[in-house]
Amino acid sequence: MIDDLETISISGRPFKECPKCGTNLKFSFSSNPHIFKTLKGKMRTTQAFYDCKNNHRFMIPNPYVLPYKRFGIDVYAEVLYRRFNKKRTQEEIKLDLWEDYKLEISEDSISRIINFFLQLKGGEIDPSDIKEMQKNGYIILSIDGIKPLKGNTSLYIVRDVLTSTTLKADFFTSAENNVLISFLEPLKLQLEQLGLPVKGIISDKEKALVQSIDEVFKGVPHQLCHTHFLDNVTEPAAKLDMHMATQIKKELGKNNYMKETKKKINSRKSKERFRR
Ligand SMILES: [Zn+2]
Repeated sequence: MIDDLETISISGRPFKECPKCGTNLKFSFSSNPHIFKTLKGKMRTTQAFYDCKNNHRFMIPNPYVLPYKRFGIDVYAEVLYRRFNKKRTQEEIKLDLWEDYKLEISEDSISRIINFFLQLKGGEIDPSDIKEMQKNGYIILSIDGIKPLKGNTSLYIVRDVLTSTTLKADFFTSAENNVLISFLEPLKLQLEQLGLPVKGIISDKEKALVQSIDEVFKGVPHQLCHTHFLDNVTEPAAKLDMHMATQIKKELGKNNYMKETKKKINSRKSKERFRR
């Protein structure tokens, strides 16, 4: 369970130098907290912004939530998995998410998530977002694969780092190279038609994804996402922590204290059951 008072800061410069003018990027400010619901509880994030001396502004795309959305990306992955993979109705999804995660979500919100996804899947980009991107003259892509907690399907989301526009999303049961290539190729064509060259790509280190990106966007600089990199680095530490937790449990189990307490609790439970 994520403590809803804890704030996770999405920080780190997406680039060392400004992709527009080449001068150094420096920390500028942190946004107000964005509060949203995830499958594990409420979460809040702040976003660090970095400016160059010519006031070009950049940030790392938030890996937990899309801009202005009330539900985290994990909820999106879960809703889409249940809708398109398990063929559940919106009403059933609402009940499922309450049953499995105690997540309160209305049928309206579920419907909005599904429609938002279908638009992105169809490659519809908002005309005002296109204008913003054309003002920049090029885009820098961030490509993320998100797995729902249950099931082995993945939701892929492509964003432009410069404008935070969500460009495309799709949902795959098997994310092999050919699947990812046929996901990325139409996007590449669409961006070419809009006069938006891709100047750089940020993604996580998933093997098939890295290979597919390199195939479709040949020669475009590709770097691994800082947030994912940090997650990967801290993973062994988290495992060590689990190990420590297991060791502590073992130690406590050696003397009879835990067993005695368990017995007392169980006997009280069965007495209460009889009372009812
Ligand atoms: Zn600049």
